[in-house]
Amino acid sequence: MTYDGIIIGGGPAGMFAAIIAAQRGQKVLLLEKNDRLGKKLLITGKGRCNVTNHCTAQEIMQNVPRNGRFLFSALNAFPPEKVLEFFEENGCALKTERGNRVFPVSDRSQSVLEALQKAMRQNQVDVRTARVKGILTDNSAVSGVRTDKETIACKWVILATGGLSYPTTGSTGDGYTMAKALGHTIMPCQGSLVPLETEGDDCQDMQGLSLRNCGVKLLDTKGKVLFKDFGELLFTHFGVSGPTVLSASTHLKGEGCRLVIDLKPALDEGKLNDRILRDLDMYKNRSMENALTDLLPRSMIPVVLRRLGVDPEMQANSFNKQQRRALVELLKAFSITITGKRPVAEAIITSGGVKTSEIDPKTMQSKLVPGLYFAGEIIDCDAYTGGFNLQIAWSTAYAAGSAVQKD
Ligand code: FAD
Repeated sequence: MTYDGIIIGGGPAGMFAAIIAAQRGQKVLLLEKNDRLGKKLLITGKGRCNVTNHCTAQEIMQNVPRNGRFLFSALNAFPPEKVLEFFEENGCALKTERGNRVFPVSDRSQSVLEALQKAMRQNQVDVRTARVKGILTDNSAVSGVRTDKETIACKWVILATGGLSYPTTGSTGDGYTMAKALGHTIMPCQGSLVPLETEGDDCQDMQGLSLRNCGVKLLDTKGKVLFKDFGELLFTHFGVSGPTVLSASTHLKGEGCRLVIDLKPALDEGKLNDRILRDLDMYKNRSMENALTDLLPRSMIPVVLRRLGVDPEMQANSFNKQQRRALVELLKAFSITITGKRPVAEAIITSGGVKTSEIDPKTMQSKLVPGLYFAGEIIDCDAYTGGFNLQIAWSTAYAAGSAVQKD
């Protein structure tokens, strides 16, 4: 069997690029090193897969803090609307939730994978398990690939090997090595949408505690607000995680940034003070540790009292006005110093990758190597949570898959 082109990597970008190229009459081979496709896709959106965000191409770009402009053509040619159409047509019904996040009606990422596999079968995409070791060139244009088993000739290659996050899914950075060997610049990689490590023991003491509705602000060393959000936060053995923290991590600048959490966003300071007064009055004969149980989660109480310098055994009726004021202030602005990000392996997305100025934004073709294309996370673009990163995968894959036929 001879192939027009080879797609390296069977993630969302690789599978979708294969479908688009095959629909345009190309004989396509997809090579994936894992024994099954879409390993990372299956864990997206906590197993539900946030397929895209139902908004305009312009709004998607606004949610891509790194190299968003590069995606202008690709997003306009294949906006979220078209993603919805594709999946509905291939048997995966979708629904839109809070924040325009789109999920399969089944709430299972497996449905998204099945739709892609169905379209690949219908368009006769061949799939083989093999680890690609290098891309071959002839007169500096693509001429084939070398795998761990064989050499396969082809006219074009779409490199869709993902980034460096969650390496057990197969994203181990092989694509960067292959692109670099052909002269491409790889912008330094680090985690984005990544949990954060914190100073002191407070977070560790509250590990496992998840706050559903809190206000979160990220401040730099001068107190400037770098990011603001509202939603879920999780305390862990190393610091903090959860959706608000992952989004905040994208804006982290240097050392010494602080996360300031409003633990009671529904109450202003006056109302919170009244609420505390009521609780302390109701439980006046209890210890402070037991008097705050209606107001705060159990594991947070010792941490809060420690910060206030209040003995947990102190009786509630001895808690004075000054201490109450300090408690109100603490609950409205619970400050945690960030010491750094968790490693890229724990990130949702890789920031960095193949330099965008070396890629044609309309076709995703390399400006250095004719016949070489890129799609998905391997490119130096990354977005916030909300389905934006998969939209980047679909749009760049569409651009590459549509362009190969013209060569
Ligand atoms: P990948 O999905 O990483 O696929 C690359 C593939 O290439 C892998 O299968 C790998 O095995 C294969 N490969 C690598 N090297 C080789 C080689 N040498 N030879 C052959 N094959 C190779 N984004 C969203 O928009 N919505 C979400 O809900 C969401 N949730 C996420 C949750 C988690 C926990 C994580 C980690 C990420 C999430 N993302 C989400 C991000 C999203 O998963 C990525 O943007 C997306 O998977 C990138 O697709 P890709 O095809 O470029 O790369």
